[in-house]
Amino acid sequence: MKAVILCDFDGTIYRGDVYEDLLLKFGGSDAYELFEQYKRGEIRSQGVLESGWDTFHVSRGTLEAEMAGMEIDPDFPAFVSWCFEKGVKVGILSDGLDWYIRAVLANVGLENLPVFANQLQFEGEKAVFSYPYLDTSCPLCGDRFAVCKRNVILDFQHEGQKVIFIGDGSSDRCAAPAADLVIARRKLRIFCQQEKIPYLSFETFSDVLEQRTRILQAVEGSGELSTIIGEDNR
Ligand SMILES: [Zn+2]
Repeated sequence: MKAVILCDFDGTIYRGDVYEDLLLKFGGSDAYELFEQYKRGEIRSQGVLESGWDTFHVSRGTLEAEMAGMEIDPDFPAFVSWCFEKGVKVGILSDGLDWYIRAVLANVGLENLPVFANQLQFEGEKAVFSYPYLDTSCPLCGDRFAVCKRNVILDFQHEGQKVIFIGDGSSDRCAAPAADLVIARRKLRIFCQQEKIPYLSFETFSDVLEQRTRILQAVEGSGELSTIIGEDNR
């Protein structure tokens, strides 16, 4: 079976937004407004990441110590274990930063999962941002977000893999029409309803685990997707 489950991070695996939490605690007085502008779509991901970084008034070590105490959805590790048992790969597909995603996943020993996200590397203490998945031509993400989730999904599909996508927010919109199955909450669920994209609903990874039979059916292609997801989610 060739399949991969790609999960958004902020709002999906981590209940809040890691970078927002760090900025509100350790950023400058304009950090709040920066994030509000980002949510209103007035500045792009790159803007909030880089301008936000410049407002931090603590060391990188302090930020990393804070992240060592951040908790993810308690059922996500069990979900990953189940996927591995079934031979399904798991990756993180996020418009956040690989730096904080790996740091928070390390709290549960999952820092080695593949991460498709914006990148932050350090040259000494200097922060260097890069955007390997940016696609300004994508109609659903190109003018706002820095990771085109659709393109990452299409790359897996071109290799003959089925892709199941789990997400919640605006940066997930271009992923939804591309994925073989969408598992959605919050804004992404509303988007799927508006666009008539079939989806399974979740609030927590406990809900995702409860639907594992349907997920496996979708992965294996056993049956029509509309039958697998049922009447409620079309
Ligand atoms: Zn896109």
